[in-house]
Amino acid sequence: MTAAPLVETATPLVEARNAGLSYATRRGPITAVDAVSLQIAPGECVAICGRSGSGKSTLLALLGGLCAPTTGHVFFSGRPWTSLRGHETQAARAEQIGFLPQESVLLPGLRVLDNVMLPQLIAGRSREAACARAESLLARVGLFERWDAYPAELSGGQQRRVALARALATEPRLLLADEPTNDLDALAEQEIVRILADVKAAGTTAIVVVTHDPAVAAIADRRLWMECGRLMAAAAQPVIERPAFERPTSSTNEPADSQAAAFELPPAALIPQLPTVESTGWWRTAIPFVLGLGVAAVALGGIDRFVARRQQQVVETIRQQRRLAEEMALQDLRADVDDVATAGGGAFTATLFLENFRPDRELYVLGPATGVAVQRGGRWESLPTATGPAAAAEEIREVAADRLLIPVAFTLPDGPYDELLRGYVHVRISAAMVVSDRGDGEGDLFERSDAYFIYLRDPRLTEDDIRAANGWAAKAAVPLWIAMPAH
Ligand code: ADP
Ligand code: MG
Repeated sequence: MTAAPLVETATPLVEARNAGLSYATRRGPITAVDAVSLQIAPGECVAICGRSGSGKSTLLALLGGLCAPTTGHVFFSGRPWTSLRGHETQAARAEQIGFLPQESVLLPGLRVLDNVMLPQLIAGRSREAACARAESLLARVGLFERWDAYPAELSGGQQRRVALARALATEPRLLLADEPTNDLDALAEQEIVRILADVKAAGTTAIVVVTHDPAVAAIADRRLWMECGRLMAAAAQPVIERPAFERPTSSTNEPADSQAAAFELPPAALIPQLPTVESTGWWRTAIPFVLGLGVAAVALGGIDRFVARRQQQVVETIRQQRRLAEEMALQDLRADVDDVATAGGGAFTATLFLENFRPDRELYVLGPATGVAVQRGGRWESLPTATGPAAAAEEIREVAADRLLIPVAFTLPDGPYDELLRGYVHVRISAAMVVSDRGDGEGDLFERSDAYFIYLRDPRLTEDDIRAANGWAAKAAVPLWIAMPAH
């Protein structure tokens, strides 16, 4: 495979014109990118190879407008990055550029699906659209099944695929990928190569990929070599072969020579003799790391702020909904004992009522599940309830202004009972229900548990017994039941 000639297009998607970037360091300026001129056509795929420290990551950052050149210009869609206003730069980056940095930038606290949805939400897409696109991208990178995994639950290769899905989430016009197969095993590498080849074949996204990997370089239309911040076409240079044991075992169908040709060196005369990393002090190795961290931090900082804002909004919405549900459950919904009747022989039916105090707001209940207990020996003893409260508990019912009546039948067992009032049995009726503003179970739910306490006339005693025991007048009424305040 021979490298295509440098393309001169009328409207390059991205163009560097004599662009350079020097870092000011304690030891004087370091020129990371030196007067680079480069045009990338829409849909074109360009691989940039070169030794570590040759300026590849910095060039990617320049192309993507992540940093401004200290000399020359970088244009995106014909406009210099530096001429765009802050929000235009952000919008262009968010919507038109997918960035796959060297370091993993998946947010550890978000699931895979949310990570892929995120750039789309930032770009202003609806949740539904973002979710649908994220799902199809996850399917494309073979991780649909893992949509709810957190990044830490994935292998390095899987994380890289998710990061690639995320970089493609907004259907960007330009994908900038920095060593996408670095540190991956042969199989994971093949997966990434396959995805990149698919993206290239689709033709709508231009790719600039920094790589040491012949398999990645092989899919590019053009391969360029970077050395000491300068860029050159890698057309007629000698071939670097990866040692055989590093080769992916059964990667692509391409002939072996096409992979080998992808990895080329400039003529020896063009390679200045650089001091080795070891001899230049710790800062030389620290600097790319710091730059990487800086770029990641800028990207993550923006994303994190966005996530924080979204989470704030979500939390606030949930709070409001809960307040509403709580208000409905506690205030709009009135519930209490409506009446108690006796069928004789210790059999009673207590009727509870539910009532919507604010009928302009719809109110539904699931339940109530009811229970009855009687106080004996200082403890509450549950009684079986004869009507099936479970049947009512499984239904969602609307509560309107008219009272909804819930009968609860029970039979008092034989005494003795604890008597707080002589001749009366202390009974607790409980009702637990879920309250919602919607009848389909989809609304916000709030649980409400009530306990109603009543004194119930001991069925074994006559009215006169009770009057006598309490010292009441002969004509005094002896009610069947007396409602007690909640306690
Ligand atoms: P590559 O990606 O090819 O390894 P980089 O673009 O990361 O190269 O770095 C190019 C050169 O710029 C290196 O010499 C590196 O030490 C230097 N450099 C990178 N980032 C910084 C920085 N933030 N401050 C100072 N020098 C830096
Ligand atoms: Mg780099």
